[in-house]
Amino acid sequence: MKKVLSGIQPSGQLTLGNYIGAMQNFVKLQHDHHCFFMVVDLHAITVPQEPAALREQSEAVAALFIAAGIDPSKASVFLQSHVPAHAELGWLMTTLVYMGELERMTQFKDKSAGKESVGAGLLTYPALMAADILLYNADLVPVGDDQKQHLEITRDLAHRFNQRYGEQFTVPEPYIPQVGARIMSLDDASKKMSKSNPNPGSYIALLDEPDVIRKKISRAVTDSGREIKFDSANKPEVSNLMSIYSHCANLSIAEIEAKYDGQGYGPFKKDLAEAVVATLEPLQQRYKDIRSSGELKVILRQGAEQAAEIANRTVREVKEKMGFVMP
Ligand code: ATP
Ligand code: MG
Repeated sequence: MKKVLSGIQPSGQLTLGNYIGAMQNFVKLQHDHHCFFMVVDLHAITVPQEPAALREQSEAVAALFIAAGIDPSKASVFLQSHVPAHAELGWLMTTLVYMGELERMTQFKDKSAGKESVGAGLLTYPALMAADILLYNADLVPVGDDQKQHLEITRDLAHRFNQRYGEQFTVPEPYIPQVGARIMSLDDASKKMSKSNPNPGSYIALLDEPDVIRKKISRAVTDSGREIKFDSANKPEVSNLMSIYSHCANLSIAEIEAKYDGQGYGPFKKDLAEAVVATLEPLQQRYKDIRSSGELKVILRQGAEQAAEIANRTVREVKEKMGFVMP
């Protein structure tokens, strides 16, 4: 069975971008793959986090994984920090990656832009992400388009290690959706939707109340035209809303264009809001049930045990190949 690994940072409230770009594929892949899905809390601290918020968001992300349909009897769900092998292989990968490779990364440039002081972890992030993936010899990594660059580094590091020290790592492939790989901000279609955006109007959070969702969609920026047509170059805002609608209403882009032919933005936005609400309502209900049941702790403990068994073996093999004295 092929192995799948992916993670989401507890750096804010999960958004529709995270759901469409990544989580929906987690749920799809779990049936016929050996899956590992993590809350990457060690990644989240590459930008400042309030301790209480980090704790709450970490549990929230884990509960949302389950609420979205990940079945803990099929996939290992765990917190990255519960498996110390991530930090350990992360360090080893940091010594293998080049500064030039890290400095080129769009995520680093975006997140460090305009900041007076930038933590070194923001730069070395891709080395830890490579470790996350390589620990399990994952074949496939379901991610949004923005993580493609980091996956390229992971592939290079796997090759580099294998060449230098002998065959160890599987070279992973990205698994990116055809529509919705890059959901854009509702207030600015030149930026991707991000949970760490300080403006909540820029994203739809998976836990937003129905009326909040309706308001955010009615306020979403469009253009001065009135045609519902998919054209990312000339109509990026409308195209983005169409991608969201396509996922939530299970309609193709062509079907959406036909449905709203000659109708303007009003009816489209109204239907879009209802489709998003309908998609998120059952998920929100399951989320509440999971948070109140106390089952999360057991799921996370089991997930971490399953993950650690594989991850610890990989770290041992890697350290042996690199020349560390084994205990
Ligand atoms: P942050 O702003 O803290 O980086 P984020 O919203 O980018 O948060 P991540 O935890 O960095 O979320 O990414 C989790 C997963 O969601 C990754 O697979 C990423 O590619 C995907 N993803 C993030 N934003 C989008 C988006 N706008 N469209 C599609 N996929 C996305
Ligand atoms: Mg991100």
